[in-house]
Amino acid sequence: MIRIYINGVVQGVGFRPFVYRLAHLYQLRGYVLNSSAGVEIEVVGEDSAISAFIKAIKETYPPGARIDTFRTKQVTDKPLTNFEIRSSLSDLSQTTLISPDLATCPDCVREMNSPANPRYGYAFINCTNCGPRYSIIENTPYDRPQTSMKSFRLCDYCGGEYTDPLNRRFHAQPVACAECGPELSFSDENLKAVTGNPISLAKKMLKAGKIVGIKGIGGFHIACDATNEEAITELRKRKTRPHKPFAIMTKHEHVEKIANVGEREHRLLRSSAAPIVLLPKGSFLPEILSPENPNLGVFLPYAPLHYLLLDDELPYLVMTSGNLNSEPITAEEVQLKGLCDAFLTHNRPILNRCDDSVIRPATHADVIIRRSRGFVPLPVELPFSVAPTLGTGAELKLTFALGKGRNAYLSPYIGNSETKSTTDFYLETLEKYKKWFDIEPEKIACDLHPDYATTHFAKASGLPVVRVQHHVAHVAAVMAEHQLTEPIIGIAYDGTGYGDDGKIWGGEIFRMDYTDYERLYHLEYMPLPSRDAAIRHPVRIAYSWITHAGLDASFLRNISPLERKTMDMQLSKNFNIIETSSMGRLFDCVASLLGLYPEISFEAQSAMALEFLCGSEPLDDEQPYPVEFSGKQILLKPVLKEIVCDLHACKDSRLISRRFHRTIVSVTLASARKIRQNYGLTKVVLSGGVLQNRILLDALFTVLQKNNFTVYTPCRFPLNDGSISVGQMIIAGNRTKR
Ligand code: ZN
Ligand code: ZN
Ligand code: FE
Repeated sequence: MIRIYINGVVQGVGFRPFVYRLAHLYQLRGYVLNSSAGVEIEVVGEDSAISAFIKAIKETYPPGARIDTFRTKQVTDKPLTNFEIRSSLSDLSQTTLISPDLATCPDCVREMNSPANPRYGYAFINCTNCGPRYSIIENTPYDRPQTSMKSFRLCDYCGGEYTDPLNRRFHAQPVACAECGPELSFSDENLKAVTGNPISLAKKMLKAGKIVGIKGIGGFHIACDATNEEAITELRKRKTRPHKPFAIMTKHEHVEKIANVGEREHRLLRSSAAPIVLLPKGSFLPEILSPENPNLGVFLPYAPLHYLLLDDELPYLVMTSGNLNSEPITAEEVQLKGLCDAFLTHNRPILNRCDDSVIRPATHADVIIRRSRGFVPLPVELPFSVAPTLGTGAELKLTFALGKGRNAYLSPYIGNSETKSTTDFYLETLEKYKKWFDIEPEKIACDLHPDYATTHFAKASGLPVVRVQHHVAHVAAVMAEHQLTEPIIGIAYDGTGYGDDGKIWGGEIFRMDYTDYERLYHLEYMPLPSRDAAIRHPVRIAYSWITHAGLDASFLRNISPLERKTMDMQLSKNFNIIETSSMGRLFDCVASLLGLYPEISFEAQSAMALEFLCGSEPLDDEQPYPVEFSGKQILLKPVLKEIVCDLHACKDSRLISRRFHRTIVSVTLASARKIRQNYGLTKVVLSGGVLQNRILLDALFTVLQKNNFTVYTPCRFPLNDGSISVGQMIIAGNRTKR
């Protein structure tokens, strides 16, 4: 008799019925149960049948499941007559993981499309392999009365499936049909109900170029026909979003018509998280979907409702988060009044909002840009046990992280602004996480920035506060997910983070572990005038840096005489100037030197333009600009001087951008080598928002690896400020003394 222990995401994803069916297939006796550590199985039968059974578990487990460990143990035979699913006390355990929301599975799509099926055309079809999970849970354990399905009483048909262990809807908590489950409704721009088939009404509006609010899994989308340029233009106007790219939802069969997709990208698109995947775009959809951007965010339908909306006459939909600028996604149509011409909604409450997740495939490791639906609230394993600790996050791309034992629970993406709705969503989600995962923080960690709302929140909590430098947190988050415990070379290339010296950091190279760090190299300090205004007007950064470097800035276009005069005054009197070592600002500066976006409408717009200018060929053969150090500072003036020379010599912008990127790679390699020589460290961690730049990240990875460094980038946490909370949490929760 064999006992099997399986660990990972194995509860609430149809694992027990899957095992049950396999046991019947191989004629084994025994049982399966959920334990606090995962799933436990005992089987007796023919040896060959047991081997086949184990193989089948490992190779064909349900799509929403994840097997982390699989152990078997020989135990003494017990007299067993059948195979059963046993209930266990630990089903009630607080530590049971909550599954993320799972994209509609192919079996359910097939049933929904077959006229003979009782759930034909039903917008809420699901099974143990698919459907909402996180977004409908109120309380643990995950059981129907503890979800927003509690008000829908199972009909006999659904109840029969729910209680039949051989059925693929056995214990599927959101199971429902048109007779007993949630229903769609349609309303006009004033939220007045309109009679008729909600799906047909919504399609009609979309096809007519109207903008429709659609209630989905984690919140509302605002949708329009992605082939209709006028509709998209109107949507941009209403959302006050002139340039930032929109994501497109389309069925899998159409993806290759609008983007270049490799095998890995296909796998990402079709994964149960169904994230938005950034892909090199084809040419056929309107350019204004992602203006002057070679990429397009694409995702597949992940709720039955999406499949019902998309058809041959409406194959591509813009599906953007239902929110106002940078605010959290909403689950209530009333919040979107004025933005939409109509609403397609339903009566299954969304209890826990979560945005679509966003992933950018890269050569060495996929980069998570936003980690929400499909990923939360799964924990990530830490390299050591931490005290119950809360990391409050930074300001932009806000998340929080709770740690306890060896688990880190990262919140979904909360928002990008300091408004009341962001704070409310943050606090509400935090309370839920604390309850579900039974974590009462003993410590709280926050940024060094004195004015972040998250800093004030930490200070007001009454708990011992640990302040963690922003870029140290960036690196620590990556160390944690890769289970690194030894000192490493930590590199953070980032926009803005408050430094130990009160200056703005962002081009930082550390020697560090979880208890201590030393800032070994950083970009030369440069003057940032009136900082928030300058970030929106990158040309002002270029003007002041060129002037500061002792060069003549008169060649710069896109800057008014008044702006010049103001900045000359600020620089000469050192008034309203803050020093910065930010890599993000360096990219802004160089982009402006090349005449790209003197003013930007969304974060990193000009840095992205600089990246796109490079094209996609590797940078290997490019000649870097001069790399010089002065003590800890990586000198920028010689670089700027050479760039200006190239500009005056009318060198091609593409070449200048490529040489500039290549320079950052050379500087990084030179720094890493010096640290290896002095301290013997060979592991390099790369983090920070600037590394969302694909050409830069790929080149750094390749060059560092070629020079025998082991390179780590974030794979399970976001690369940007979305992971600051995790880094704060692990540093504060580390029990060894600081
Ligand atoms: Zn399904
Ligand atoms: Zn039913
Ligand atoms: Fe950052």
